[in-house]
Amino acid sequence: MNILIIADLEGISGVGRAGELVGSSEAFPQTCERLTKDLNGAADGAFEGGATRVAACDWHTGERDVRTEMLDSRIEFHPGRFSETARTVLSGGYDGAFVIGAHAMAGTVHGFIAHTRNVREWHDFYIDGKRHGEIGIIAVLAGGVGTPLLLVTGDEAACTEAPRYGDCIETVAVKRGVRWDHAELVPEDEARVTIRSSAIRAVSRIDMAQPYALQLPAKITVELNRSDYCEKLLARNPKLERVAAREVSMTAHEVWDILV
Ligand SMILES: [Zn+2]
Repeated sequence: MNILIIADLEGISGVGRAGELVGSSEAFPQTCERLTKDLNGAADGAFEGGATRVAACDWHTGERDVRTEMLDSRIEFHPGRFSETARTVLSGGYDGAFVIGAHAMAGTVHGFIAHTRNVREWHDFYIDGKRHGEIGIIAVLAGGVGTPLLLVTGDEAACTEAPRYGDCIETVAVKRGVRWDHAELVPEDEARVTIRSSAIRAVSRIDMAQPYALQLPAKITVELNRSDYCEKLLARNPKLERVAAREVSMTAHEVWDILV
């Protein structure tokens, strides 16, 4: 059984202040260690539950969030940002995927650092008129190659969002957002024990898991916060069309198109 773990940063254990996620902050090295420990815990649970191969990749920046020297040596790590490597990585044939360190979509009440793709520039992201966040985007990509989501860890709001993408997704809330930039934490060691035990349970239920299937073609819309952000995105992706001062749109003919 092959499992892929996709790691984001905002929803990891032990981090309750936005400042700890800033790359230049004093706290950042420890934040990266915490991410790596969550990753190791999830992988250990997957192996315990019967996985024979566990791979991991970084959704956040793809650079230095995962401390590869601390990583469980059994994990096969794919460098680079998952939004750029997804197609190649997912071609590896995974029976199930975990998302660890997840956060809720932009505009979610009590979502710790709730955002979609780009905190500053993106206001909302829609697929066929329905708002989606990063958990949804990952579910669509994985679902496109027949890989179901099995486990999502993150803040409480992310765990509320996750079940939209599968009936038997295990969730682990490691914190609760009290403001956008502040969360109350579950004690870190306790959170990690739960991540491991939930990973065991998640892989044991793999036979019941269904990949999330997006009906294609689908209409993708990004609403930006300013018109110049809109222009920047248009310059990067020629498939997009401007539909309003702060809104671009396109038709997705394959799941990879949702990574605008
Ligand atoms: Zn994210």
